Amino acid sequence: MKHAKRLTAVLLAVLMLLSLSVSALAEEAPAPDYTTGTPWPDIDLEGVVTEDTAAELKDNFALYVNKDRILKLEIPEGYSFAGTIMDLSLQNAEDIRNMFLGDAPEEHDARLAYNLFRLMMDWDSRNALGVAPLKEQTDAVESIDSLDALNAYFLEVPAEDQLAGLWSSGSEVSLDDASKMTLMTGECGLLLGDSAEYEALTAYGAIKKEAFSELAEKMLVKLGYSKDQALQKIDNCFAWESMLAPVIYTTEEQGGADYLARINNHMSHEELTEAEGGVPILEELAKLGYPAADDYLVTNPDFLVRLNEAYTEENLPLIRDYMIVHGVIGVAGSLDRECYEWSNDCGNAISGSSGILDDETAFSSSVAGMLAWPVARLYTETYLKLEDKDRIAEMIEQVLDAYHGILTEADFLSEETKARAVEKLDAIEPRVLFPDSWEKYDRAELNFDGPEAGGTLTEALKAIARYSLEKEVKEYSEPVDKEEWAMTPQIVNCFYNPQDNSISIMGAFAQGALYRSDMSDEELYGKLGIVIGHEISHAFDRSGAQFDKDGNMSMWWTEEDYAKFQERNDRLADYYNAMHPWEGQDFYGSIMTGEACADMAGVKVMLKLAAEKEDFDYDTFFRSYAEVWLTKEPLQMAYIRINDNHPMGYLRINTTLQQYDKFLDFYGITEGDGMYLAPENRVAIW
Ligand SMILES: [Zn+2]
Repeated sequence: MKHAKRLTAVLLAVLMLLSLSVSALAEEAPAPDYTTGTPWPDIDLEGVVTEDTAAELKDNFALYVNKDRILKLEIPEGYSFAGTIMDLSLQNAEDIRNMFLGDAPEEHDARLAYNLFRLMMDWDSRNALGVAPLKEQTDAVESIDSLDALNAYFLEVPAEDQLAGLWSSGSEVSLDDASKMTLMTGECGLLLGDSAEYEALTAYGAIKKEAFSELAEKMLVKLGYSKDQALQKIDNCFAWESMLAPVIYTTEEQGGADYLARINNHMSHEELTEAEGGVPILEELAKLGYPAADDYLVTNPDFLVRLNEAYTEENLPLIRDYMIVHGVIGVAGSLDRECYEWSNDCGNAISGSSGILDDETAFSSSVAGMLAWPVARLYTETYLKLEDKDRIAEMIEQVLDAYHGILTEADFLSEETKARAVEKLDAIEPRVLFPDSWEKYDRAELNFDGPEAGGTLTEALKAIARYSLEKEVKEYSEPVDKEEWAMTPQIVNCFYNPQDNSISIMGAFAQGALYRSDMSDEELYGKLGIVIGHEISHAFDRSGAQFDKDGNMSMWWTEEDYAKFQERNDRLADYYNAMHPWEGQDFYGSIMTGEACADMAGVKVMLKLAAEKEDFDYDTFFRSYAEVWLTKEPLQMAYIRINDNHPMGYLRINTTLQQYDKFLDFYGITEGDGMYLAPENRVAIW
């Protein structure tokens, strides 16, 4: 989508990667031996662990705890991995599905969600319309025959009717002053995701390219293009992307220590007018209803220069085809059954999943994402309990309390920096399971017709897009509401948001294997407890550390302390850079430091709390933690995880636990054992 919240996606520290969208391309080179990883093979990768694989506690704790379950686990149809987190997600999908199977609710917001679900389920109308709604949009792009016509397209066609943008823009919370919104403009989206793929295509990049090309080709032929025309369009799309990719930040750059500073560029209205040249960025913002501003966030000035150079009459065929190819891929899933299944096939090829979800499960989950707050309220009222909220809130207070020790005992910091860190810690706002009230989250002004009133899915999706945009424009001129939750209770995940210094433990996460009201302290500490500690530590990881207690990007460290902190982060990155999931495959250590730091600090803080308990059962505690990250996944998912900022499941277990004497001593792990790490080689930041 054009007005994607790129900045927010970069800033928000999530507990783990979950949302994924695409058959492996036959590789020219022989497949590597996937059991050859160092210091441990990628035991999460399907097929690596067999009955014969040695699983010694002292050599590979993750495998020792989880081997039996890894052998038995099967990846569920329609999903791309299996394990503890997937079990939570499956339960969540079933819970959400069951909410939509009863009679139509009376209340406005609940009825909206119910209507959207039924519009998705209405195959008769969807099949009758076919690709007609899309054809109107592609025809509008095909008729662009000059730069004037291109500008007119961006300035006159309503945003929800446009296929794809050539840049991103919109409003975001200001990096420098989190009490204000700011207007921003940034890069366009690339089909292969990481811009580095355009310099050197990886095995995973080839899988994506093949999957997207196949989907685009089928869609274009269905729209009436010949096969040759379709292939030409796909080539043109990649040609346009290849012109821009060299100046778009790579995944590795986005994870770098200096990324936030790199994107925090400001331009005045006059400067942006000059920099945008012939590209109507400012005019388009005005069309959306944004007033002119004194100051704009330009996340990538080089992109703006390159876009300007490429924004020519001569390149119009490439521009049109970029918009069309992105557009047809983007909307395929919301059209008729044939397009929907092609879109699902594309998703399967990219994520390594197979099969297709039943419609009720797939569409109720989609509604839970698109109408997140109406579904949030229903979900909360149906499944969540105030007593769990209170109990977990109390536990968060204990963990926050224990964190004081971690910060004040950090011997690499001066007293001055420690005091500031404690100040920030004390200002962290916990958001637990579900909000206390719902006023902020109503969707009273959003309306669209359900199937019996003649509504269509396309119209409903446009109404939602229009509503979201109008809401964003309206909120731009208001002070930022720091109390408002960004995440909804039905998400199976947890978050830290540096711009309001809040941690969020979502209701759908504190379920099943992660939290039960009758859990022992040991299990609770090893599961939800470590997750809570993990989230808090994001306030003090490489990204979070650049924001103060009020959510403003400002340097609260002494220069010397910050340099030492960076050194520790670099050591942590190097530790992962020396590892390989299988021989010949690298990790990007630099993008993993924040999440690895968080896992380690999470274990450390819970060990502090455990030390206060008599007869604490450490075996249960360590095993409980190892169970959380039990994972089984296909090769595509392994590639996705290599490009993600979270270490793979087995590393989240082994590299985290081996940092702590308590773990090594408890099990008698010593030099020569696979899990042993000498004190001088340990890399925990806190
Ligand atoms: Zn995290």
